[in-house]
Amino acid sequence: MSLNLSTKSKITWCPGCPNSQILVAWRQAIEELVGSGKIKLENLVACAGIGCHGKISDYLNANSFTALHGRVIPVMTGIKCANPNLIVVGMSGDGDAYSEGLEHLIHAARRNSDIKIFIHDNQLFALTTGQASAMSPKGFKGKSTPSGSIDEPFEPFSVLIAAGATFAARTAASDIAGTKKIMEAAIAHKGFSFVEIIQPCITFFDTRDYFKERVFWREGGPAENPDEAIKISRKEGEKIPLGIFYNVEKETFEEQLNA
Ligand code: SF4
Repeated sequence: MSLNLSTKSKITWCPGCPNSQILVAWRQAIEELVGSGKIKLENLVACAGIGCHGKISDYLNANSFTALHGRVIPVMTGIKCANPNLIVVGMSGDGDAYSEGLEHLIHAARRNSDIKIFIHDNQLFALTTGQASAMSPKGFKGKSTPSGSIDEPFEPFSVLIAAGATFAARTAASDIAGTKKIMEAAIAHKGFSFVEIIQPCITFFDTRDYFKERVFWREGGPAENPDEAIKISRKEGEKIPLGIFYNVEKETFEEQLNA
């Protein structure tokens, strides 16, 4: 079956923005999942928060919901509770998910809510033209930190795996095939899936060369326990691992709720 997942909306991301690569991977993952009969398009709800990433809803011809800033997780949990047959996938950004809505993320992981969150991490608030986010490196100079940020960046894997996330993975927008594969695995997982996508903002913080030299696909499968999963998600010296770090089965929030 041939799907038309495009819309007539004009793409307003900056030309060359890696969000476009995430969109391609996302459409390809949906085509694969629907084409192979693993999901039905009418059962997919593609949610998004606020930020450059959030425009993705305008460019995908599927059921969608755009939430308030930082509030995509409670919207997704509500949709899944109301109709557990739906496949609820959300896009968020580092500003949206880690700076504005972190408490929601932690509690969704703790509950093992059967939702899948893909975080476009460009290490700043990009839509508002370049303020420091929870992921900005120490010393980052932006509009809100002209003398350099004095904060250490947040480390999401340690917090979310410790909180109870049952699926955790990292990919890079520049690798469309790899991102598509990770998205499919995250959707196939029953429970809370957390996917971090490295997505440089080429206009306000162009880190493409930095990441190109450092990311690598980790060999071997996911860890068997949370401590090991946190360990293998971490940088190896200057190198940043990509792959699935954790993938375990556990009763979900919605299963318990409906029981
Ligand atoms: Fe992409 Fe940055 Fe432009 Fe936003 S501001 S569309 S993240 S390049």
